[in-house]
This record gives sequence, C-alpha cells and structure tokens, in this order.
Amino acid sequence: RQEQFRALRGLPSESKDGISVDLQMNAGLLVDLPQLDECGAQGIGLFRTELQFMIASTMPKIEEQESFYRSVLRQAGDHPVTFRTLDVGGDKVVPFFRSAEEENPALGWRALRLSLDRPALLRTQFRALLRAAAGAELKLMVPMVTEVNELRAAKALLKKEVNRLSRFGYTLPKRLQFGAMLEVPNLMWQLDELLQEVDFLSVGSNDLFQFVMAADRGNARVSNRFDPLSRPFLRLLRQVVEAADRTRTPLTLCGELAGRPLSAMALIGLGFRSISMTPAAIGPVKAMLLSLDAKQLQSHLLAALDQPDSGQTIRSLLTEFADQN
Ligand code: PEP
Ligand code: MG
Repeated sequence: RQEQFRALRGLPSESKDGISVDLQMNAGLLVDLPQLDECGAQGIGLFRTELQFMIASTMPKIEEQESFYRSVLRQAGDHPVTFRTLDVGGDKVVPFFRSAEEENPALGWRALRLSLDRPALLRTQFRALLRAAAGAELKLMVPMVTEVNELRAAKALLKKEVNRLSRFGYTLPKRLQFGAMLEVPNLMWQLDELLQEVDFLSVGSNDLFQFVMAADRGNARVSNRFDPLSRPFLRLLRQVVEAADRTRTPLTLCGELAGRPLSAMALIGLGFRSISMTPAAIGPVKAMLLSLDAKQLQSHLLAALDQPDSGQTIRSLLTEFADQN
C-alpha cells in the first residue's frame, strides 16, 4: 500500500470533481523534513517549535533557535512553513520550565498565556524566526488564543521585533503572515473580531475537541467516548468555515482529525480547502480525495447538519457516502 500511495505523490491534489485541497504536513524536528518530498505534502501546515525545547536540557539560545529555523526553511525549499510559537504546558512538558504544580494543566498556565507572561521568551523567538527568514516568506501563528486581546498583544510584540531589526539594519522577511490557532471555544464568539486581526486561521481540533467536550485528550476513557464526527462538533466547524469564507481569510485545520480519511472527507464536505496532518496520513487522505465527489458530499453533509439529531449519525452517513464512492 505504501507503494500505491507513493505513486499518488505527483498527482494534483484535487477531488474527482476538480476541487483542489491543500494537503500539508505537521512537523517539529529536522528529521521530519525529508518527509515533505516522500509524502508529497504541499507544505508544513504546523511546525511545532516546542519540540526543540522539549528535547533540550537547557533553554535553546537565540542563535540555536535561529539556526534551527533557518535549517527548517532551507530544507523546506519552496514549500511554505507555518511556525507555531511555543506551546508548552498541558501535555507538552519542557523540563527546564519549572511551573508550579497545577491541578488542571490543560486549562492552566500554558502556550500563549505563558508566552505573554514571559514576553522576553516570546520576543526572542520572534527575533530568531524573523532573522532566520530574512528575505523569505514567514508564516507565524500563536497557540491557545483565548481572547482576541491576547492575539493583539502578541502582534504588538512581533511588531516591536520587526521595528527593532529594521532599526539595526537587518533584512526582514519579504512577506510576513500572522495567524491564530482556534483551540479554545471562547473564540467562537469573537470570531469576527479575530478575523479582522489575522492573515489566516488554523483550527487545532485536538484541543478544540477536548475543550468543547470537556474530555481530556490524553485520557482514552473519556476522549473516545465522544465523536468528533457528530452534529454539534461539525456544526461548530461549519460556522468557522462560514466566518472565514465571509472575510476571505485562509483557513486550515491541523489536528488529528485531518489525518483520518473519513474525517478528512468530512472536513472537505464542510468546506475546508486546506488541512495539515501527520506525514504518514497524506497518502491515504490523498487517495480518498482523488476519488471524492466533493460538491455532492458537501450538499449531503450540510443538509444533514441542518436536520435535527434523529436516528442516523453523521458518521454513518459519511461511511455510506465513502462506500458508494
Ligand atoms: C491541536 O490541538 O489540534 C493541535 C494541532 O496542536 P497540538 O496537538 O500540538 O496541541
Ligand atoms: Mg493544541
């Protein structure tokens, strides 16, 4: 099967009815980079920068961060890379960040919250990224945004770094895009304000699902209990697509959902035109995409989402649709 998937690498990434869908991969270390060519992903939709910190015994210095990001960009070549700023805390443990014991680390002092409380840390990371991408394209996003004001604060820090580098005569990136991850449900009711502030939006479905269902993503007993392919969660995702479409904001989704062919199919049916997943999933998802009638699926799925929950689950509807294709 591996060989069959490899054969799909060169084919355009579009559905049977000609809808093109960007298939990107998630990464976090240099060893992941060769996968770009091997799996045929169009780019790196999520680069988890905390990995460099998680495997280090001391805080990586700015020079180390910069040279790491530069290597990532060099190895990615023409493929776009979306760097996510530090997402530590919760399930992502960095040994030299000694924070107090927390009773609910997933809901605790983590990700952007921590970065905004330690602005030197975030500014150092921004500086390293800006310098690594001198003269090139740079896409950045911040994790676990809870309120639009946090995003504005992060943007202000980024701007300070841009100004500082240009004052010192550094070459800046030729294009800088700044985005947010949508992982905390609160943002759903601030979407319009949020979309005014960002160049793109990326749904982190692992955390979003965990918080929407109040079910720990690391606890199989509860995380497998609820179905992401259920009406409530898919309705939520549909609202995100509609809001992004209204403002013409590029939208992607980079959680585990994107990497399972049936759920990737659901996402395409909801209107996602870019998804990012683990490299091993690109082949199977592409095989699904190539045989998919996306418009037909979309009208089926959206009609079913509008109906009240009665009898047939969305998962069974999707399975049936997949079997007929
Ligand atoms: C997510 O939460 O869906 C996500 C992509 O980020 P992570 O899995 O690194 O938390
Ligand atoms: Mg997350």
